[in-house]
Amino acid sequence: MHQCDHCDYKSARIWCINRHIKTKHGEIQKGSGVTEQLIKRTSTQTQNVPIHPDTNKIIRQWQKAYKNMETRNKDLLNGWQNHNKQWQAAYRQLQAWREEDGVYANEEIQQLSYLNSDPRR
Ligand SMILES: [Zn+2]
Repeated sequence: MHQCDHCDYKSARIWCINRHIKTKHGEIQKGSGVTEQLIKRTSTQTQNVPIHPDTNKIIRQWQKAYKNMETRNKDLLNGWQNHNKQWQAAYRQLQAWREEDGVYANEEIQQLSYLNSDPRR
């Protein structure tokens, strides 16, 4: 025979007691109660965890970073479109530089081969 902790209710079946306690007294069931109490306590603690003082600051930083990213992407897009307009000229300029570099590279190769051959003289 089991008895309710809170009143005189008795039953031969523990699950009847458990159901009685839960419905009549609004408490956690026996047996599995330890786990349920732990879960309840843990969730209560989680809810009661104070917000870190820097949380709002961090959120603001993220929001700022996101806005910056938006702005930067917009700038990048505009910049890319402008660059695209200038691409032909830029490409020709690049080719010209490459040709100049090619000339310099040839001169360097000649100098290097000269230096390399120098010790053997
Ligand atoms: Zn009771």
